[in-house]
Formats: sequence, structure tokens, C-alpha cells
Amino acid sequence: MWSPGGKCPILCAMASQAQVIDGKALAEKIRRETGDLLARARAEGRVVRVAVVSATDDAAARMYVARQCADFAAAGIEALVRELPGAATEAEVVAAVEGLNRDGEVTGIVLALPLPDGIDVRRVQERIRPAKDIEGVHPRNLGLTALGRLRAGPSTAQAVIEAIDATGIDVRGKEAVIVGRSQIVGKPVALMLIERRATVTVCHTATRDLAGHARRAEILVAAAGRPEIITGDMVREGAVVIDVGINRVTLPDGTRRTVGDVRFEAARARASWITPVPGGVGPVTVAVLLRSAVSAALEAER
Ligand code: NAD
Repeated sequence: MWSPGGKCPILCAMASQAQVIDGKALAEKIRRETGDLLARARAEGRVVRVAVVSATDDAAARMYVARQCADFAAAGIEALVRELPGAATEAEVVAAVEGLNRDGEVTGIVLALPLPDGIDVRRVQERIRPAKDIEGVHPRNLGLTALGRLRAGPSTAQAVIEAIDATGIDVRGKEAVIVGRSQIVGKPVALMLIERRATVTVCHTATRDLAGHARRAEILVAAAGRPEIITGDMVREGAVVIDVGINRVTLPDGTRRTVGDVRFEAARARASWITPVPGGVGPVTVAVLLRSAVSAALEAER
């Protein structure tokens, strides 16, 4: 496996197989950066405290939030949950968000999804104070992403760029194809790659010839949420392949597995670099969120 900071000479010699971008090692590097930022925040006497707004009765969703808080805590960041019932109304969720906006001791807000049926997620996201929006989902922060501020964008999109940067390739002038046009992945990744002067194509469910577009990609970002939709023959020789997809599938023998949007082994035989699932973009996204939490605290007005 490749790890950030050094290239593996053995894998480099095997021209026919892509090097695997080790998301866990990359996440470690970002966590170290976060540790340095946290030390600075403490030296400046700043509070670093994240509040996760959660409105669910679902045990698995609550467990996910608890795990997220544990991730913050493990990084030395205080985290608390503002827990609402699964029957909460939009007004109640907005009130919780606005209370946290006003709370001078809270420097970052995370809105746990999904929200109860009938609540407009975007409308709630718009109420988060942009300076506390560590997930990068507020329209202002998406706007800043469009204007070239990488660190303002959604964590997953930042993680994709981190993974591409870790390969050391120069994005400028490259053909980049993104599969997916969501607000948290596809669109911001497209904006970030345009900023870096790649030539960007965004594919989605209305795209007529996905395979044709994908085959042109020197950088291929798969974020469709469709298990192994990118087959080996859709990968250009030497491409950098970033797989964002997280799909739970049931195998013929009944066992459950997590796979990406890319057929890994087939793509690996043609690509130059590739992220695995799991262990690729996922851990990098978590690390980016931690870093954003500390950055927000450092930039908070006092
Ligand atoms: P989404 O459902 O909001 O968007 C999916 C996009 O893919 C849509 O724009 C849709 O047009 C496009 N799409 C779907 N099927 C397609 C097809 N057959 N051909 C072409 N385009 C197609 O999903 P999302 O929130 O952007 O997430 C995408 C995937 O990334 C999911 O698997 C999700 O679980 C995963 N994800 C991973 C992380 C991480 O940290 N690794 C974070 C967020 C999301």
C-alpha cells in the first residue's frame, strides 16, 4: 500500500497495477495537522467545541452520532449532542440550530442526517451560521468553494481533493470526469477541480454515454452511490480513480459487504492510482471534518 509522504518503489516498478492511495495513512497526516492547529487554538485560549444536532429515534442513526462525537473527542475536540426526538418539527430543529449559533461556547455545528420526514434539509442548513458550518453545507460556503476557497467546501469534496493531491499529479489541464452531481460531493468537487484548472465533465443520471465520458478521464471521481457502476473497461489507462461510493451489498452467499462505485480489481489493472473502499475517501472525510472543526474555532470572532 502507498502511504503519503513517500512512494513505494516496489509498486512503482509494477506498471500494470495502480498504486493504492491509503486513505487511513492520509487521514493520519490530516489528524497530525489538526493536532498542530489544536495546539495553536489552545495557546490562543480558544474554545473548540462542536455541537451535533440530531433529530432521530433510530438506534443506528444515534449510534452513528455517538461515534462521530467519539471521533471528535479522540482528536481532543469537545463534542456535545443536541438531541431532538424523531418527531421533531422543522421549527424545532431550526430553533436548536439558532440556539447554537448564538452560543459563544460552541464553535462548530454539525447537522446529523437524515432529518425527520417532511423537514427540508437545505432550509435547515441555510440557518447554520456560516462561520460555524464545519461541514461546508451552507450556501455561503458553497459559494466560497465556487470562488476557490477549498477549505470552505463540504468535507467529502475536500477529501477527494486531498486524495488526488496525495498522488502528486498536476491537475492543471487534465481531463477530469465526475460521476454524480450532488450538493455535497459531485458539484463541489467539480468546482474545486475547475479552480485547479482541470477540464471538468460532470455526469449524472441524465448523461447519455457514461462509459464514453469515463473513458476520457485522466482523473475519474465516482460519486453516484451505485455499486461498481464503473467497470474496468470504463477506466482510461493510467487514470487516477477516486471512489467516493459507499454501498452495502448482499453477495450471492447472503453475506453483506461494503463496495464502492468502482469495480476495484478491474479498475486497478488499468489505473495509475486508485482509492479502495473501504479505507479510501471515507477516513479522509472524517479527518477533514476534524480539521475543519479546529479551523473554525481558530477563525472565530472574539
Ligand atoms: P446522491 O444520491 O445525493 O447523488 C448521487 C449522484 O449520482 C446524483 O447526482 C445522480 O445524478 C448520480 N447518479 C446516480 N446514478 C447514476 C448513474 N447510474 N449514472 C450516472 N450518475 C448517476 O449521493 P451523494 O450524497 O453524492 O453520495 C454518493 C456516494 O458517495 C454514496 O454512495 C454515498 O454513500 C457516498 N458518500 C461517501 C462519503 C465518504 O466519506 N466516503 C461521504 C458522502 C457520501
